[in-house]
Amino acid sequence: MLDFIGCGSAFNTALGNNCAYYKKGDTLLLIDCGSTTFAGLTRSSLLTGIRHIYVLVTHLHPDHIGSLGDLIFYSHFINHSRITVLSPDIGRVAELLKLMGVAGNYFELVRLEDRYQLKNHEIDLEIEAYPASHVAEMACFGYLLRGEAGTVYYSGDAKTINADILEMLYQNQVDLLYQDTCNLEREFIPHLSYEQLCQTVQTPFRSRVYCMHLDEGFDSEKAKKDGFRVVELKRKG
Ligand SMILES: [Zn+2]
Repeated sequence: MLDFIGCGSAFNTALGNNCAYYKKGDTLLLIDCGSTTFAGLTRSSLLTGIRHIYVLVTHLHPDHIGSLGDLIFYSHFINHSRITVLSPDIGRVAELLKLMGVAGNYFELVRLEDRYQLKNHEIDLEIEAYPASHVAEMACFGYLLRGEAGTVYYSGDAKTINADILEMLYQNQVDLLYQDTCNLEREFIPHLSYEQLCQTVQTPFRSRVYCMHLDEGFDSEKAKKDGFRVVELKRKG
């Protein structure tokens, strides 16, 4: 269901900041809008013909929200599309955008609570936020998306896989799991190490798990040999 504008970690400029999208007709759903995302969107002409943009925010690190202000300005002044920003933590998103001088009347903010139905004339998705274990100083969320194309979980930045989500994968209630996976194996790293991913996900279920948020030098071939899938870019961002 999801395509990606970028699938790299914060410093992996070659792959761009991790950002998934779902496009149908004149509607575009983005998960995050990191520092490189706006450039990727314009370079790939993904905003052409778009009238409705929804941005699901996982957390406030720059590689996840760094160009959201640019996208809002562009939507308001150039593209004339409606933009809606969704998060369980809208207060902090609003505060950050306000500090950047992005006027509140240029976008709509929606607080995600319980199971939120995102529905317009093109898309109909149920969105459920899950707290993700990332860093102590800010909240981070993963999102379970249920739609006509199936059920997917997007981890956001997370150093563990939520136990409920893993169980849902094993019970076939989650079709695809997109997981933040990093090269490093150190306790203080706020992402899930590849080694831990291997320890966590049972082999028969790995073909439904995508590695994303990839560091430079991530060994995609090894991951595929071990049974996982690795996010690849449909178009250069
Ligand atoms: Zn982060």
